[in-house]
Amino acid sequence: MAAGAGLLGPDGRSAPTIFAEMSALAARTGAINLGQGFPDEDGPAPVLEAARAAIANGANQYPPGRGIPELREAIAEHQQRFYGLQLDPDRDVVVTAGATEAIAAALLALVDGAGDEVVVFEPYYDSYAACVALAGATLVPVPLRWPDFQPDLDALRAAVTDRTRVILVNDPHNPTGTVFDAQVRDEIVALAHRHDAIIVTDEVYEHLIFDGAHVPIATLPGAWERTVSISSGGKTFSTTGWKIGWMSGPAPLVDAALAVKQFLTYVNGGPFQPAIAAGLRLPDTFFTGIADELRAKRDLLGAGLVAAGFAVSEPHGSYFTVADAAPLGAVDAGDFCRALPARAGVVAIPLTAFVTAAHRADYATLVRFAACKRVGVIEEAARRLRVRG
Ligand code: PMP
Ligand code: GLN
Repeated sequence: MAAGAGLLGPDGRSAPTIFAEMSALAARTGAINLGQGFPDEDGPAPVLEAARAAIANGANQYPPGRGIPELREAIAEHQQRFYGLQLDPDRDVVVTAGATEAIAAALLALVDGAGDEVVVFEPYYDSYAACVALAGATLVPVPLRWPDFQPDLDALRAAVTDRTRVILVNDPHNPTGTVFDAQVRDEIVALAHRHDAIIVTDEVYEHLIFDGAHVPIATLPGAWERTVSISSGGKTFSTTGWKIGWMSGPAPLVDAALAVKQFLTYVNGGPFQPAIAAGLRLPDTFFTGIADELRAKRDLLGAGLVAAGFAVSEPHGSYFTVADAAPLGAVDAGDFCRALPARAGVVAIPLTAFVTAAHRADYATLVRFAACKRVGVIEEAARRLRVRG
């Protein structure tokens, strides 16, 4: 009998992720999919064109294990241009199969197994708990609570101990849309120092932030030498299917993760790598433009959810808005979301899918909606929720 690292469903079969389940539900029912976070429009033409050109020009074999030099240089330039970080593209940067692989490789490399703990902010992206389980470590959740989803600093201090190997941070945060306060970031760095932990940051929504600029933890005093920063081109360039991600940080940490990564995928996405390099070199107006566009969609979605009777937590970044469906009579977010296509022709994701089983009651009626869809689609979803929700 396959053990599946405890990841198999109760029937002993591979259970689909909540995102796959809800996208299949949308496809089956014809409902508007505000569940899985992927855009319904193509990204910037020069990026798409660069991929076509790369295929036409023969970039169709294995790229180097660390990623093509052009992309690693573009990542280093990007970190310098937006955050003032200076990276050696040959030593401090590794290209991965999406942020997902970077997270897996970093955790598998940096965590030793039994006895090691990984502190995460709950609710958390689904792959975090799975990768901590694969690494044989223990997940220690710090709760983020409705409505602002900022962690309580005392709870954070209590969670980080000498057993903590990694503090895994996702900022801007999926599923809540929160952006951590400066105090929280400072405390994470202080605790990592006090307990000799490594910080792994998932920054895939770094350019989808609505008030002010993103602050990578790696830029804080004393943080760089113990931080692995992870991002990906999927969200920024609306190319979630390309799975080009990367990690950056001090060479010893990045090398440890590369040692694992080379046996996960080895490499991926040859012709997409130069295309993402072109994207990272787009002018500033592109990056401010995508944030402005998504902010307007967030406002439209938020207003629609309020008009439909939900209570809404205003997100400060990411694709997502969390709404409380209790005013609409919801008792269980999972039941509510599974019934929503028939009731209102809309698909959303229950927050209970992002928390450990013991904590589901704390998020029982909260639902995540994605705003990364065309304006007309959001308007129609809002109309349906108002009329039929
Ligand atoms: N981290 C977070 C917080 C995400 O929302 C996602 C989903 N795109 C990922 C990682 C995975 O990114 P990628 O598609 O680049 O693997
Ligand atoms: N990141 C996407 C989301 O949160 C889902 C990606 C996936 O399906 N694994 O909706």
